[in-house]
Amino acid sequence: MKKAAVELARLFPGAVRCDVPLSSISRWRIGGNADILVSPRSIDELSHLRGWLYSCGLPSVVIGATSNLLFADEGLRAVVIQIGCGLSSVTIRGSRVNAEAGTWVPGLARRAMMAGLTGIEHTCGIPGTLGGLVCMNGGSQRKGIGSHVVSVVSVDVRGERVERNQQACGFAYRTSAFQSSDEIISSVELELEAGADHRVQRREMLDIMRSRRSKFPQKLPNCGSVFVSNPAMYAQYGPPGKVIEAQGLKGHTVGDAFVSHEHANFIINGGQARAADVLALIALVKDQVARATGYSMAVEARYVTPVGTIKEI
Ligand SMILES: Cc1cc2nc3c(=O)[nH]c(=O)nc-3n(C[C@H](O)[C@H](O)[C@H](O)COP(=O)(O)OP(=O)(O)OC[C@H]3O[C@@H](n4cnc5c(N)ncnc54)[C@H](O)[C@@H]3O)c2cc1C
Repeated sequence: MKKAAVELARLFPGAVRCDVPLSSISRWRIGGNADILVSPRSIDELSHLRGWLYSCGLPSVVIGATSNLLFADEGLRAVVIQIGCGLSSVTIRGSRVNAEAGTWVPGLARRAMMAGLTGIEHTCGIPGTLGGLVCMNGGSQRKGIGSHVVSVVSVDVRGERVERNQQACGFAYRTSAFQSSDEIISSVELELEAGADHRVQRREMLDIMRSRRSKFPQKLPNCGSVFVSNPAMYAQYGPPGKVIEAQGLKGHTVGDAFVSHEHANFIINGGQARAADVLALIALVKDQVARATGYSMAVEARYVTPVGTIKEI
């Protein structure tokens, strides 16, 4: 890996960092060191990087703002490709928005609103990149970004450009084809609608933000909702937070990880939590809810193994 790091730093000067503590960059503030982290500054650089890694047989893993990821305590031996502000240009023409994958989602929602467009207000409080949002088909208020996607351009493992239309993206509730492909999303084309008055959208976004601030824990590191809502469980018992709370699990602690006192679907890092604590707490909550309700809750957050595999928990 040392030789690869030297060569990568020569090929992509200023874009490569070594021995990066994932606990310092991850949203959950958890994870050992990443041997090599590269932040591409253009789509050409991303293609070149992928092609080079492929020709050397080096494994890699893509991350965005890490707001849905739990990194292993052992850190990461695969090369981490972080798509962020280096790939964040946005073009708006009429109702079409073309944005690079590193675009910050709340900023994009505001830009669309300022351009008089409506449709993605529900994403204004989601702290991630557009690439991560599309990969997770994220959204709120039971909406997903996928319904506004026209096409997605990505870079495959050899560094080649791939374009998918909406259907080929395989969007379903909190999932997409990108979760099982090795493509890295580089840009996304969205189709929005003309809003009647941007002040109406602005008010709606302020209401969403106010409601999230009042419901969700704000101060300590967390990864948003840990469990995905299951329609059948919802109909019988309610959303995951309510079901977990009913089990008396608010405040339940493993190591330095605990179930939030404010919202039971959030797991908080009290300061020194390890990935092992979070995994054990998730298993405990899942098990107790399954025994009480008969439903096995799916986990929204993903675990990044030391070899760079992104796994369901
Ligand atoms: C406080 C808080 C609130 C949240 N609220 C919501 C919410 O309301 N709704 C919701 O849906 N989510 C929510 N989330 C979860 C998270 O913000 C979303 O899943 C987000 O879209 C992830 O984006 P990211 O850039 O952080 O991706 P990451 O967490 O870095 O990665 C997530 C997945 O996307 C993949 N990925 C990232 N970038 C790319 C790319 N360019 N190409 C291909 N794959 C890529 C990664 O490999 C990984 O599998 C919340 C999280 C937090 C911390």
